[in-house]
Amino acid sequence: MIDHRRLGRELDLFDSDPLIGAGLPFWLPAGAAARHEVESYLYDLERRNGYQHVYSPALGKRQMYEISGHLANFADDMFPPMAVGEDELMLRPSMCPHHALIFKARQRSYRDLPLRVAELGQMYRQERSGVLGGLSRVRSIALNDSHIFCPVEQAAGEVAGVLRLMRESHAALGLRPASYQLSLRGPGKKYGGRDADWLRSEALLRGALDAQEISYDEVAGEAAFYGPKIDVQVVDAAGREWTIATVQIDHHQPERFDLSYVDASGAKARPVMVHRSLAGSMERLFGLLIEEHGGAFPVWYAPVQVAVLPLASLPAPFAADALAAGLRVSVHHEGSLGARIRANTKVPYVAVIGEREAAAGLVSLRLRDGRRLEPMPGAAAIALISEVAAARRPGQLLPSP
Ligand SMILES: [Zn+2]
Repeated sequence: MIDHRRLGRELDLFDSDPLIGAGLPFWLPAGAAARHEVESYLYDLERRNGYQHVYSPALGKRQMYEISGHLANFADDMFPPMAVGEDELMLRPSMCPHHALIFKARQRSYRDLPLRVAELGQMYRQERSGVLGGLSRVRSIALNDSHIFCPVEQAAGEVAGVLRLMRESHAALGLRPASYQLSLRGPGKKYGGRDADWLRSEALLRGALDAQEISYDEVAGEAAFYGPKIDVQVVDAAGREWTIATVQIDHHQPERFDLSYVDASGAKARPVMVHRSLAGSMERLFGLLIEEHGGAFPVWYAPVQVAVLPLASLPAPFAADALAAGLRVSVHHEGSLGARIRANTKVPYVAVIGEREAAAGLVSLRLRDGRRLEPMPGAAAIALISEVAAARRPGQLLPSP
């Protein structure tokens, strides 16, 4: 595996500038195109599974983080507050408090639950400058996040659903988890909440892993300050281990924010909060995906899906047709055929249009793995690429027979 920092620059996926600052990379058009596709996929996957998406601001008042417990337990990872008039505003280090207050913004009934609030949101963490590099560790983070509010009796079912969605999305992305980890409390760290709630949540997470026959390691000291969690671990090209997905049970923040719903008997009841991310931050995810695929992404989120190489004097409508059909296309007029093919080795399909093809409305597709297909009508080539993209099977370049 090659370090994603080198490949990311070579393939024009992302870069950084000392004037913007360490740990603040920017996404170039090719990287942004791939990320947009992955974000859209996650959005649809969540929507089809009953999640409701929101937008919330990346800033909040200091008092909110006092109530949530972040300032008491997590201040070292947060940027210092900014004085604005009477208030002190802080860049958020997580979306939990905003989503808790979105839950609280309306009267909630047991019939509304589970309420699955989701957001691909921006957050900020003050990582030390010595550990910053590429996309793995950054200070500006776009997280695939959700908070599920439900009665404690529904929490096991919600965790099971999250584990299933993790496995589905990791398979589509071509991401290989190294291990599952049950992250528990440990000595020398600060935690909020009641002991009985911690024990119940730990038992619930164990039960969810066992029910899906997922093997896991128990790791002390890796819990969140508000509750235990299941973490999905991956290993990068340098052999470092990262958490890419997580599901956590939290009794603490619902209590701190005094969240409630009206239960079936008409009484006020306290929901539990299930924090979860299917694929982590877009930064860390793409750092891993670039290395995992060596920059040759699966067809569905490849920045360019088909590179068109016109060789004929006749103009061919293929590139415009492919673009209109929703494919991501680049056109290369300069250089020998060989040089143009070598410049596009990471692109899943190269469409060669010679004199004969142009005259007959055909294209010759060359696949990234070296296979060459017989010349086919442009519309058939577009249909083939679209079908492979829609199937989201990493490694596959032809439709399933
Ligand atoms: Zn959270």
